[in-house]
Amino acid sequence: GGKAYSMMLRLRIPGGRITSQQFLSMLDLCEEFGNATMKVTTRQTIQLHGIVKDDLRPTIDRINKLALSTLAACGDVNRNIMCCPAKHSSNVHAQIQALTDKLVPAMAPQTKAYHELWITDTDSGEKSLAGGGPDPDAAVHGELSGDPVEPLYGSTYLPRKFKIGIALPDDNCIDVYTQDLGLLAVVRDGNVIGYNVLVGGGMGTTPSAAKTFPALAKRMAFATPEQVIGVCQCVLKVQRDNGNRADRKIARLKYVIADWGVEKFRAEVEKYYGEKLADCTEDDVHEVDDHMGWQDQGDGKWSYGLNIENGRLYDDDKHQLKAGLRAVCHEFKSEIRMTGHQSVIFTDIAESDKDKLIGLIKEHHIPTTEETSTVRRWSMSCVALPTCGLAITESERRLPSIIDGLEQPLAKLGLEKERFTIRMTGCPNGCARPYNADMALVGKAKGKYTLFVGGGWLGNRMAFVYKDLVPDDIIVDEMVAVFAAYKANRDAGESFGDFCNRVSRDDLEVMAAAAPKP
Ligand code: SF4
Repeated sequence: GGKAYSMMLRLRIPGGRITSQQFLSMLDLCEEFGNATMKVTTRQTIQLHGIVKDDLRPTIDRINKLALSTLAACGDVNRNIMCCPAKHSSNVHAQIQALTDKLVPAMAPQTKAYHELWITDTDSGEKSLAGGGPDPDAAVHGELSGDPVEPLYGSTYLPRKFKIGIALPDDNCIDVYTQDLGLLAVVRDGNVIGYNVLVGGGMGTTPSAAKTFPALAKRMAFATPEQVIGVCQCVLKVQRDNGNRADRKIARLKYVIADWGVEKFRAEVEKYYGEKLADCTEDDVHEVDDHMGWQDQGDGKWSYGLNIENGRLYDDDKHQLKAGLRAVCHEFKSEIRMTGHQSVIFTDIAESDKDKLIGLIKEHHIPTTEETSTVRRWSMSCVALPTCGLAITESERRLPSIIDGLEQPLAKLGLEKERFTIRMTGCPNGCARPYNADMALVGKAKGKYTLFVGGGWLGNRMAFVYKDLVPDDIIVDEMVAVFAAYKANRDAGESFGDFCNRVSRDDLEVMAAAAPKP
């Protein structure tokens, strides 16, 4: 026995769809092998923390026996594919969720090594709990030819990680402009007729390296449903062959796009694809639905979105999130969908069972979505201290008390119903997508944050630095002052992000100093 290294395990759960049985088993696993908590992430998947190194193999083995996988959830490959998780009877939702399931094997590494390393009894083929959901193992079980060559990844994989998300223009809940490869469905007469393909988004920056920057994806071209998987593979291949392999800090696709411009990149993709592509249609994002509260599925059943603060599931004296979710899973046994905002959606609830569900939530002292303030509901945080090795400051442990400090002042300003995203990360790596939020705190030095404003809940605009190196003990006051400035100076109907973006940084500072304190 050497040092007791403790690890994080991240699952691959395409589009965040997981059965109740799988979810229950994951809760068991976090208690058996992890630190007894589970994190619902910003990419619609689950992370277990505090797995001791010797427990990695049994944990991964068990995960695979649940017909879940950790394959390609980390590393220089395509990561968990995001997709609007709403359960809805519309064609449009069925079509984008079906595309997600087809893209997973099409973009996955074909290696057998994963199974050889981590799984016991690879030949059993048992998938006892697979339910009706996607088959994340299809790529590794189904399509092996015995050929060791990776058709997509070659022998050296990608220069860096690669992220894909699929969104609807009227529901950008997966933040399509922050993805390396974003697919925005183009809908006509209730059918997806193709996708506007967006390339080169990404949040990560390195504080010491000025050459790094966050970027929003650029609109590249239109792909029909027949073309879209091939086009996605070609985008990945062009990045594989042209991404920077000498310097990991500038290896993401966004740096190729910045170097080349999107037109040259598109021409290269078309060359790989062997066909010219049409231009993007005018369709763009114009609304976001976080799917919280009761939503009509259109099939006689209901979904209920429950806000999970920062995605952390735990039990303590005050709140029993794990026990509450266990109770719901046991009672309803229906599919759970995780959102890109670290929350969960319970699906297929009958009208007559609505009160029972809310009763179970309340019984476990979990705030219902209706009891949760708008500012808390639209906030999210990365893991940071004590579990993330890259963290410079607090984030997940601090954001709840920051929100506590904002709730009353916002109510006094009459802004308690106003929707804006507040996102916090413990370092500039940006795992909770801070750089396109209405307001964001990014850990910069010990106990000090960069305060960003001017992005927006729609996710299609970058925020800018309002103040740097703000000490923790005055951060709430600084935030409240900006909200007071907004209240005093905004145009009718103007959103917080739009307002900050309209006035200059310096004017905002003057307004914040002058605005009456709530
Ligand atoms: Fe860790 Fe930084 Fe990501 Fe937060 S943003 S989880 S501190 S790497």
